[in-house]
Amino acid sequence: MDRIKVGVLGLQGDVREHLLMVADCGAEGVVVKRQEDLKGIDGLIIPGGESTTMGRLMQKYDLIEPIQEMGREGVPIYGTCAGLILLAVKTVEGGQPLLELMDMVARRNAFGRQVDSFEADLQVKGIGDEVFHAIFIRAPWIEEIRDQVDPMAEVEGKIVMAREGNLLVSAFHPELSQDIRIHQFFIDMVRDHKKGSKK
Ligand code: GLN
Repeated sequence: MDRIKVGVLGLQGDVREHLLMVADCGAEGVVVKRQEDLKGIDGLIIPGGESTTMGRLMQKYDLIEPIQEMGREGVPIYGTCAGLILLAVKTVEGGQPLLELMDMVARRNAFGRQVDSFEADLQVKGIGDEVFHAIFIRAPWIEEIRDQVDPMAEVEGKIVMAREGNLLVSAFHPELSQDIRIHQFFIDMVRDHKKGSKK
């Protein structure tokens, strides 16, 4: 099979760190800034940043609809932090452009202003028993999910990672940890999808 090619939305955020992780997983990472960059990618990562700004830039560059189409066609998409917010059907706060692909409601800056950033060792479903050292930066949590959304990790009883079919989200930044297991999990989703769509 050809090499797996994963796009990283490059409008804002930790683009370089995600590209390095993708490369560590043995796949090829490419930066996505325009519609034409979406051609030929097998999966897409939406990094952290400021979700309101990223949403507006996605509108400006006409990226909302093509990414929605990709998501609905089953192409794997992974959103971290602001990327989680953008994939949600809704935020508690409302009033910002979203991709509205994943059946969940996100709460922005959910852990409170006094704890802007924190780190936590998480048990993450599907990546093995060893805890994952997760870095949270003004992170959201998932306030509400529908049945088909599978929670994968929690902090203080709040869902901070989940999957719904081809969509994966985490409230933390795995690209900032020295642990490639979550990116590997996503690349495996991409590989499975690519295999399936070639049959
Ligand atoms: N607080 C940001 C937002 O609401 C997300 C923070 C992040 O991506 N690190 O969009």
